[in-house]
Amino acid sequence: MAGRARRARPAARAVVVGDVEVVSLVDAVGELAALESAFPAVAADSWDPYRSLYPTTFAGQRWRLQVAVLVVRSEGKTVLVDTGVGPAGLWRFWAPECEALLPSALDASGVARESVDVVFLTHLHIDHLGWNTDADGETFFPRARYVVHPDALAYALADPERAHIRRCVEPLADRFEWPGDDVEVAPGVRPRALPGHYPGHHGLTIYSRGARAELIADIAPHPALLDRPEWVFAFDDADGASVTRAELVGELVDSDTYVVCGHYPGSGIGRIVSRAGRVVWEECA
Ligand SMILES: [Zn+2]
Repeated sequence: MAGRARRARPAARAVVVGDVEVVSLVDAVGELAALESAFPAVAADSWDPYRSLYPTTFAGQRWRLQVAVLVVRSEGKTVLVDTGVGPAGLWRFWAPECEALLPSALDASGVARESVDVVFLTHLHIDHLGWNTDADGETFFPRARYVVHPDALAYALADPERAHIRRCVEPLADRFEWPGDDVEVAPGVRPRALPGHYPGHHGLTIYSRGARAELIADIAPHPALLDRPEWVFAFDDADGASVTRAELVGELVDSDTYVVCGHYPGSGIGRIVSRAGRVVWEECA
């Protein structure tokens, strides 16, 4: 037998929020880290209730991570939210099941690279910027405005020798922009500060014809954190992440608002609901 069979690529999923469409495209799936290294203060058995709720996010004692990129289409504008892991081989510390899927997923969804108007980068961790450039360091979305908060950019460029910063941030240093904290990047789509995960970390809020979605980026990258916002995640930037998580859950639980995270199971498009005393994310697209 020739190696381990690769899993079929998950289908693109989408939801319509008023006049705005949100499409989820998988770029990669792999094992990110041991749970005990990502959450050193969390006892192994504390994860047990979440294993049945979110089975695809676990690989034994390791965190199995999907990395999906979101395409937001509004009134003829196309916004790409983060750019995934990127071309194969950039990461040294994870075990990919599949990677470098975004170009074919864009093709399958009819999104030409040249049609992307805005690349919105929620932050500059390695799983969010990989297709900023291609394997040769050339800009992958040639017409796009690359939008990222200046605090995130300054933090990334303070340590420019890291491979993902050198390949995916430095070549674009003159192109990054930030329109302002409350300025729409497309009709009905505006940045929302979600402090604590990374300097300048932002999600996006979509309001359209009374419908709403919150693209929460990595403020709670494992859905168990919605139920346990106080758990300390080693890759967060600041203690304030727990406060932001708790506030977000309080605002969104049992509401009609779509809650979207590219690291959640399936499409990553769902809602936060109360179930038997727990706060649970349920996929709904
Ligand atoms: Zn991430």
